[in-house]
Amino acid sequence: MRVAVVTVGDELLVGETVNTNAAWLGEQLRDSGVTVERMTTLPDRTADIARVVNEYHADYDAVIVTGGLGPTHDDKTIEGVAAAFGREVVESQDALDWLAEHGGYTRDDLAEGTAEVPDGSRVLPNHEGVAPGCVVENCYVLPGVPAEMKRMFAEVADDFAGEYRHVVTVDTAEPESALLDRMAKVRELFAVKVGSYPGEHVTVRFEGTDAETVEEAAAWLRERVDPTAE
Ligand code: ATP
Ligand code: MG
Repeated sequence: MRVAVVTVGDELLVGETVNTNAAWLGEQLRDSGVTVERMTTLPDRTADIARVVNEYHADYDAVIVTGGLGPTHDDKTIEGVAAAFGREVVESQDALDWLAEHGGYTRDDLAEGTAEVPDGSRVLPNHEGVAPGCVVENCYVLPGVPAEMKRMFAEVADDFAGEYRHVVTVDTAEPESALLDRMAKVRELFAVKVGSYPGEHVTVRFEGTDAETVEEAAAWLRERVDPTAE
């Protein structure tokens, strides 16, 4: 299963808010065996959301959008997603019923637009907040507040499944440029994905669906590099 993640928020683009939602979703999806192929951050702008969701929903098995829900002026996500699917934005009776039952809210208590979703969506209740999320075709719209997003993702997590991929990392004190020959060799010998991540030391990451092959590839390299100092 191939998925795209779209995070919406001007504050993310200027680094005011660290995009922990993208990182968290990436990890959850990886653990479910799903391949995340795009993580795109967009401004709070309807046309941008519409364009990107329109493109991604055709190209990927699913799209997850977080942020920009709710009734404030900078919340454009519902409008953008509705436009991507050529649907109207409508007030959801399911959302109103859920909010009445679980939050004790009457329609008049809620700010205008709170219960609006693209027409024909499945509404996702917000157990940690107010604004509901929704599912439109293969697009999952979740809130931006991390606690709300995580709780709502739990409602749909079962829709995201793939083949589990085993991961092992090997750290070395050698510079990346010195490792090129051994990296080429290990890729030749084992059918695994090999990634190299330089930092204070280099972390070589092995990933594959067959745990034994991944372990063997990591062991092969581990025996042939200088380890990091303890
Ligand atoms: P609500 O349903 O409460 O209206 P929302 O979906 O409208 O939430 P936003 O208004 O986009 O969410 O953001 C709410 C808060 O969550 C902000 O403080 C924002 O910085 C934070 N937030 C939004 N997106 C992310 C993200 N990708 N990673 C971490 N924090 C985020
Ligand atoms: Mg908001």
